[in-house]
Amino acid sequence: MNMVLLGPPGAGKGTQAQRLAKAFDLRHLSSGDMLRAERRAGTALGKRVESYMDSGALVPDDIIIEVVLSQLPSESEAAGCMLDGFPRTETQAESLDKALADAGRKLDLVLELTVPDDVIVERITGRRICPKCDGVYHIRHTPPKKAGVCDREGAELVHRPDDTEAVVRQRLAAYHGQTKPLEVYYRRKGLLVEADGMQSPDAVFACCRKIVGDRMHRRGD
Ligand code: AMP
Repeated sequence: MNMVLLGPPGAGKGTQAQRLAKAFDLRHLSSGDMLRAERRAGTALGKRVESYMDSGALVPDDIIIEVVLSQLPSESEAAGCMLDGFPRTETQAESLDKALADAGRKLDLVLELTVPDDVIVERITGRRICPKCDGVYHIRHTPPKKAGVCDREGAELVHRPDDTEAVVRQRLAAYHGQTKPLEVYYRRKGLLVEADGMQSPDAVFACCRKIVGDRMHRRGD
């Protein structure tokens, strides 16, 4: 089972991807987490993507394609994958199709979390991240037990520099201009299923789990 989680920034992709990957034993590949790890490690790649990320723009296709596709499970591995934040352009989607085919795999499901724009800004500006485990919290909706501290790692939570309102608006513009057209791309392939991302995280998870379970069942896993 190989799937993509699609949706605007702040739709809850990270939270749901972590939970779904665990529930279905899928390899969670988050393009944003990969880039942030490169930045934390101070690599040349991390430095190249800094300015794009901090301004809310997409990083160039050739860079992100290489970063993400090199992490796909190989043909001999049993695990499927859960792609979170990738693809974000049609060029990325086409290269994903090709890389999966080269690995003897195919995409089985594209699950899109829908959330209206006006809700996104409130969600993202209140979001806090654990720098150690990339766990996601919200200061009002899903706060940690102790304010500002990760429940799992005990690390101090951070407000991502690209989670400020001005940058969020840029990220939404990138989403509408470059990523939203993927809806059509995947609908044509019969892969797209939408889930209402406006419910509580637990309700969204229950809904997504059913969709993924049904699709797995249908393909005979
Ligand atoms: P995310 O955490 O998924 O919202 O990603 C944070 C930032 O990383 C985005 O605003 C982009 O600058 C960059 N990024 C992550 N994934 C991609 C992608 N598939 N294509 C281009 N840029 C990406």
